[in-house]
Amino acid sequence: MVQHILSGWKNYLAKSEVTNTVAQQRAALCASCPHARQGKLLAFINDSLKEIEGAYCNICKCPLSAKVRSTDICPIHKW
Ligand code: SF4
Repeated sequence: MVQHILSGWKNYLAKSEVTNTVAQQRAALCASCPHARQGKLLAFINDSLKEIEGAYCNICKCPLSAKVRSTDICPIHKW
């Protein structure tokens, strides 16, 4: 999982267009998910995907800005 999240941060920084399309779809699903939480330690994140800015997944504890851009999977298979 760590490798997946690291790849997600890389994609977050690189702003890959193809990955952004997938990331936008995933972010929309996360934004409406009851497991998405705002993280105080993630307040520094400035994300173009505003719906998940500063948020993390309360199941896997991953920051969503990296997770939606990674090769990781949603722990409850929403995406
Ligand atoms: S990764 Fe899955 S479980 Fe976590 S917030 Fe997103 S949709 Fe919800």
